[in-house]
Amino acid sequence: MSQVIVHAHPDMFMSPPLVEIGGGWLGVAEKVIQDLKSLHPGLRVGAMFKDSQGMLQVDVAFEAGDYDSDILDRVLEITSQARLYSAWACHVDGKPGWLVDAPDGRRPLCPACQRRRGLKGMRHAA
Ligand SMILES: [Zn+2]
Repeated sequence: MSQVIVHAHPDMFMSPPLVEIGGGWLGVAEKVIQDLKSLHPGLRVGAMFKDSQGMLQVDVAFEAGDYDSDILDRVLEITSQARLYSAWACHVDGKPGWLVDAPDGRRPLCPACQRRRGLKGMRHAA
């Protein structure tokens, strides 16, 4: 599923792209790409993956060019916002979910995907 976003925006990723996200996060990933694209033409995604806390981590690379501190601040805002959104979007299907400790690792899961893993409708884990 990770390759979908890479194929949709081949010019936005470093090569080889390190992208490991569930299909449920494609919307969040798409928004990050669009926000970075509109911010500065030299911005690239170096990596996009689910971190150990179960949230989306986006590493941004800067191609040669001039970047003022406003852009750096905005990049931090964009990636932080994506991280926050990812905590509420089911990693499997993108439906509203909560960050839980699933058998396959911490990740946001909607109630249906939690039940499929034998969990009982948990909300965000501490
Ligand atoms: Zn789900």
